[in-house]
Amino acid sequence: MTMAKVGCCAPGCSTAVDGRSDWQEALCGEHVDLASREARRRFSHRHGRLLRLETLRGDERYFEAAFASDRHLKLCAVMDHASEMAEAAWLRVKLDVLLQMARRAGKPPVVQAWTAPAAATEERPVTRRFLRP
Ligand SMILES: [Zn+2]
Repeated sequence: MTMAKVGCCAPGCSTAVDGRSDWQEALCGEHVDLASREARRRFSHRHGRLLRLETLRGDERYFEAAFASDRHLKLCAVMDHASEMAEAAWLRVKLDVLLQMARRAGKPPVVQAWTAPAAATEERPVTRRFLRP
């Protein structure tokens, strides 16, 4: 794992955050604090679950045993679901931040101001995101 600076994805923020080189999005401490506690808690919980599943899948012995017993399809389905849930939680965090920024500025939210996502066909695992520096 290589460490790198990742730019905060909040509109107008240029704060660089220490993170892993494979992270595509991050929020600096100032902006992540704008999200509701519930949104942060939900993301943390779901992201942690996804990381645990990825670790499990990365365990060669476990995966081989799962593959031999046809449990690998269930593992893949569970991982897909976990990834979708973590992605939804991440989007909620970003939405909370955007709404709080707009509220503080007294302006309507500008959704397109977020960092442009990668190409739609590219897989963007949620594990590449994080909340705190
Ligand atoms: Zn920021």
